[in-house]
Formats: sequence, C-alpha cells, structure tokens
Amino acid sequence: MVHAQIRVSGQVQGVGFRPFVYRLANELGLSGWVRNDSEGVEIAVEGEQPQVMRLIERLQSEPPTLARVEKVTHDLARTTTGFVGFAITESKAGRVLTGIAPDMAICPDCLHELFDPADRRYRHPFINCIHCGPRYTLTARLPYDRANTSMAKFKQCPACQQEYDTPTTRRFHAQPNACPECGPRLGMFDAYWNPLTGDNPVAIAAGRILAGQVVAVKGIGGFHLVCDARNAATVERLRSGKQREEKPFAVMVLNTQSARHYAQFREQDAALLETGERPIVLLRQSAKCEAELQGIAPGLSSIGLMLPYTPLHYLLFHELLGRPQGTDWLRQATPLALVMTSANPGGEPLVKDDDEARNSLFGLADAFLTHDRDILHRCDDSVMKWQGKAPTFVRRARGYTPRRIVLPFSGPPVLACGAWLKNTVCLTRGNEAFVSQHIGDLDHVGTREMLEETVDYLCDILDVQPQAVAHDLHPDFYSTHYAQRFAEERGLPLFAVQHHHAHIAAIVAEHRVTEPVLGLALDGVGLGADGSAWGGELLQVSGTQCERLGHLATLTLPGGDRAAREPWRMAAAALFDMNRSDEIVRRFPEQAGAATVTDMLQRKLNCVETSSMGRWFDAAAGLLGVKEVQGYEGQAAMLLEGLAERHGKVDALALGHIHTAQNDLDLRPLLAKLADCKDAAYGAALFHATLAEALCAWVQRAAGRSGSKYVALGGGCFLNRILTQTLTDSLTACGLNVLTAQQLPPNDGAISLGQAGIALQHLNQGA
Ligand SMILES: [Zn+2]
Ligand SMILES: [Zn+2]
Repeated sequence: MVHAQIRVSGQVQGVGFRPFVYRLANELGLSGWVRNDSEGVEIAVEGEQPQVMRLIERLQSEPPTLARVEKVTHDLARTTTGFVGFAITESKAGRVLTGIAPDMAICPDCLHELFDPADRRYRHPFINCIHCGPRYTLTARLPYDRANTSMAKFKQCPACQQEYDTPTTRRFHAQPNACPECGPRLGMFDAYWNPLTGDNPVAIAAGRILAGQVVAVKGIGGFHLVCDARNAATVERLRSGKQREEKPFAVMVLNTQSARHYAQFREQDAALLETGERPIVLLRQSAKCEAELQGIAPGLSSIGLMLPYTPLHYLLFHELLGRPQGTDWLRQATPLALVMTSANPGGEPLVKDDDEARNSLFGLADAFLTHDRDILHRCDDSVMKWQGKAPTFVRRARGYTPRRIVLPFSGPPVLACGAWLKNTVCLTRGNEAFVSQHIGDLDHVGTREMLEETVDYLCDILDVQPQAVAHDLHPDFYSTHYAQRFAEERGLPLFAVQHHHAHIAAIVAEHRVTEPVLGLALDGVGLGADGSAWGGELLQVSGTQCERLGHLATLTLPGGDRAAREPWRMAAAALFDMNRSDEIVRRFPEQAGAATVTDMLQRKLNCVETSSMGRWFDAAAGLLGVKEVQGYEGQAAMLLEGLAERHGKVDALALGHIHTAQNDLDLRPLLAKLADCKDAAYGAALFHATLAEALCAWVQRAAGRSGSKYVALGGGCFLNRILTQTLTDSLTACGLNVLTAQQLPPNDGAISLGQAGIALQHLNQGA
C-alpha cells in the first residue's frame, strides 16, 4: 500500500478532469480525493502501488477531450492515512493560474442525444456537456463557474442540477448545462424584427433559406449570414449587400462525404475539417464546384469549407433535409451547402448582440434566427489550410483562443498591441503567451473598440496587470497610439518593435528556439528600422537584436498606398524600370490613370520605394494581366498562386547574377521575362519556381557566412503554399532547420506574439 500526492498541470479545469480522475480511481480501486487549485489539479490517492502507477500513467494517456495535460508529477510515500472511498472535494482557494478552454464543437455523444427522440434533450439547440460546447465566448471572468458566464441567468431545473452534481455524468460541473425546460430559447424574426411564430424557429429559418432568403443566425462567437450556396442569385444579392464584391465566402456542408462533392482533399484535410475546433479549411475546388457554387470564390482555385459545430447548425441541416429519421443521415453525402459568412458589415467586427444585428444587418438579412444566451466575446471562425507537413493558420480565433503558447523564457507580464492589419493582442504571464482571437484591421471604430475590450478581458481572465507594453515601430498605427496611452496612464516602460523583426521573433518564440536564427520575412509593407518601407527582408535575429543582412531589390510604388491596391501600377513601375514606359498606356487601356502614372514615374513624383515581397507578387500579376485592381488584400497573389498550381511544376529561370554586392536579391530579370510572357499560367508557375530557387540560394549563402543552423520563415507571403512548400523542402535539403508558423498564422496576426517575446527579453536584460 502506498500514498501518492499527484499534481497535474495544463488545461485541466472546466474540462471534466476531476470526474475523469474520480472514474479512474474507482475503476482501479483507489481511495483518496481530487480537487482544483491555482496550478491545476491536485490528487491524493492510496492503494496498491501498481494500481497507483497505472492511474498516473492513464492521467496522461487518456485525458478528457478538452484537456491538455502538460505535466504530471508525484510523490510516493509508504505511510497511508486510510482514506475511505474517493471524493471530489472543494477547490482550494488561491490565485487562479489555469485558463478557460476554447469553444468546441458538439461532441458525438451530444449529437447522438440531439437526434434521439427518447432523449429529454431531443432537438434541444443548446445541448452540451463537459466535452463540448461554448466556453471562452460566454465566460465573463474567472473562476470558470456558471455564475461567471452568460448562463448565470438560466437556473438549472432539478434534472439538470442532478446531472451537474453527479460526478459520473457527462454534465458534472458542465457550466453551460441546459435542457428544453431550463435552457435558453430560440427566437425567429423577420427583416423588421417582427416575431415569426407558428412553426419552430429552425423550420421557419430553413424554409426561408430554401426560398432564397438570407438569414442571420446567432452562433458561438457572433452572427453568420446564411443562405443557400447553390442559389447564385441569392449569393449575388448577399455579395452586393455586403459590399464584398470579390472576397470568397465560407461554405458549410453537413459532413466530409458532402465536402468531397465540392473539393478534392486528402485524409489529413478531412481530419482538420472534423476536428472539434472546427475551423474553416481551405481546400482545392473540385471540377463541379465552380459550376454549382457560382460566385462563392470568384477566380480562386480553393474554397473554404467547414462542418457544422453547434447543435443549431445540425438542427438547421435536419430541417433543410426534411427531418430525416434516426442518425444515418448525419453520415450521408448531400449536395446541400450553406454560405456561412461572418456578419461583419463593412469590415467592422462581427455582430454579436440582437441590438447590433437589428441596426447593422438591416437590409442585409431577410430574417433573424437568434437566442437569449448572450455572447460575451466576439470570436470569428478560424481559417486553416495544410501546407507541407502541417496545418497552417490563416486566421486564428474560435476553437483555438485562448489556448496558450509556452515561451522559452519567463518574465513580468507584457502586453503587446500588434500591428494594423489582422490585428491581435498578446498578454504574457510567466512563460505563457496568450494571443487574442483575430480582431481585424484597425481602420474601423468597431475594431479599435474590440482591441480595447480584448485587452481588458485578457487581463481579467489571466488575472495579471501588464508591467510593460510593446507596439509596432510605426508611429501612426492605432495599436501604437493605444499602447502609448496604456503605458503612460500606468507609468509602464514601452518597447517599439520593428515589424519584420516581430514576424521572425514570433516564430522563434513558438518553436522555443533561443539561439540566433536567420529570418526570411516576406510580407506586405512594414516600417523599417531606417524609416523606409520594408517587406522582403533577410535578417539575422538574436533575441532583442536584429540585423538586416539584405533585402529584395526595391520597387517603386507610384501613388503610394494606391499602388498596393492596384497591381497594374506595380507593373507600370516595372515597365518604366525596363525602359519600356511607352507600353504602359497601351497595356492598361482600362486604367484612366495610366498616362498620369507614366508621368509620375518619369518625374519621380509620389513614388516611394519598397522592398516588399507582396509588391513583387503584384508586379508579376500586373505584368501577366492576371489582376489590375485588387478586390481585397492579397487577391492578386492568390490568383497567381492558383494559376501556378493549375499549371504544374516548371523549371526555374536561370538568372545569373542576382545577388548584389550589398547581398540584396534583384529579381528584375524575372519581371522582364514575365513582361513578354503570353501564357499567364506558365508565367505564374515560372515566377513561383524562380522566386523559390533564388530565395533558397540567398538564404543558403547567408547561412554559410553566419553559421546559422535555423531559418525562420515569417510574413503573410508564407500563406502561399507553393512558395512555402518549395522553400521548406529546398532549405531542408541544404541542411537547415526550417521554422514555420504553426500555432499562429504567418501573417500580421502573429506580430503581437513577436513583440511580446522581444519586450520580455528586453526586460530580462534589464533594458
Ligand atoms: Zn457533448
Ligand atoms: Zn434543465
């Protein structure tokens, strides 16, 4: 007989860990207790030594779905106290250090109950258990307890309370536990918010969707605008209403079998679609996709698909399919496809309350399917895709926030405020970094308010007060202004971090690498340390130190920011550079400004230079006639990638001397070739192949000089699958350890983590 004192740390609270321990202990015939405390879960057990060791093993090998066990430690003693039975005891008070779990999709057990006519939660839209359902978006503060969530106003009925109090049920301490008796209610309204009654609200919504209407549906982190994705006229109407003329819409299908109708994908993609985090997954369109889902992803080779994740989504499919019996229909393929686009009119944050929906979705939605469980924190759908050997985030939000990233160093709490586009904020606690959900571009009042709310919320749920603040080097970013104000009000030190240094630092931090690395930052435009516009940088990064080893040859931006939106301007600048400015007007007859731009280039008026990789993509797209004016950020590059993917592999162009004496990479001979290329798809493939080969040689040369073994690839351009895959393979073949973004997107969504990491190291150095 032995006594063991066991400590489990990680994501182990509010995820059914104590009932799991209770069940294990009973199964193994052990006595003792389990409780939550400030560091995780503490267990005391007594019994035969082999059984005790078996328990310790199984804590790590078969934890509950939502748990993330990071460490299990134990002390064994020969003296026993003689426990009787096993109990779940009261939480030990103290400083809360464990976090809140992310929002998860409905689990298989709940899904089964949802469509079991004998179950008391048959067709109940708010069914959930300890393994599934909302968490982050409905919790106001710690500790994670019903009273601190938006479920506080729903008093559990005796049957629910009984489950909540019984350790052997799936609903023991399941804070959002509810049933049709005591849970939240759905409501259905027309465009003017007149209540629609008669049938059940989901049936009315389904009928309207099938009739070609757009229905706003309240979800986990906000409202979606939902319509029949196969109805081209409705999709078109939604597009013009949302002023989202070319951006792709995400589509929800019932299951992976149905997804195969619209996309080609491998097992790994299927697993990503089905994972409990339920991201939108970018997949290659099938042959049928473009014909059957017109206007969903104009011109692109990929489509963003996701599977249902709330009980309400499943109920909606159930109604749309005519209420099939049993549960077999859940696994059968159906061409049914719903547009599920975030209700965020004009780039404002996602709409989350009925009042907001009433005001800002007027004219966009023909009806509203809502409910009375409040969403406390907006959280968009996450977007992911497979690149190389790992899934990559395009946008990290629902299902993943507020999961922590463990850093290789520790220090006082730091708040980092991110960049401008795709903003996120990051708060650290010890060696943990918590990056917020995607907030958005900070050109809107709404997103700015969301940034501020998110900072307050992170401070609350982590129970920390920042001791230092980090921001982008750019003095005009809203995030910079906010950081300055925050620091000034509290008398905290401020750290300005160069944009591309932050990109590389983010990747280095998540991989917990502490030695110097080479950093290849390929991005849009960011302010450089010398005051110019950077974006194609080869860096040597060592903690707080960043040296610019070289950069892409600069391109002229005729008309400044407009050149970033209009790839034809980048093409015009390239032609001018080739002494072919006489072609500009002829090549771009639809651009009224072509003559003016030619004149601007000749007279060097309003023409700044940038080393941005993003603009090289735009120049290539412009020269190949792929896209003259972008409908959204990154569109030209995405179209170019799609063309190259469809064309297939080609040999890189032999360019000769493209590394200058200053170690810059000059790809102008490649643009000259593209200017005369008649086949856009071949040109796109040639651009990718040559670029990847030239970048590899460039990095390899620098690695030879510096002796670095690591190269980190950061910046938005690494969402380009061809570039990332080719470069990763070739650099690995050169013997380098290639670090890519895994826990955060490679784009500006990761900037806040990089800033936080650098500020922490500054603090540790006593700077
Ligand atoms: Zn469940
Ligand atoms: Zn109930």
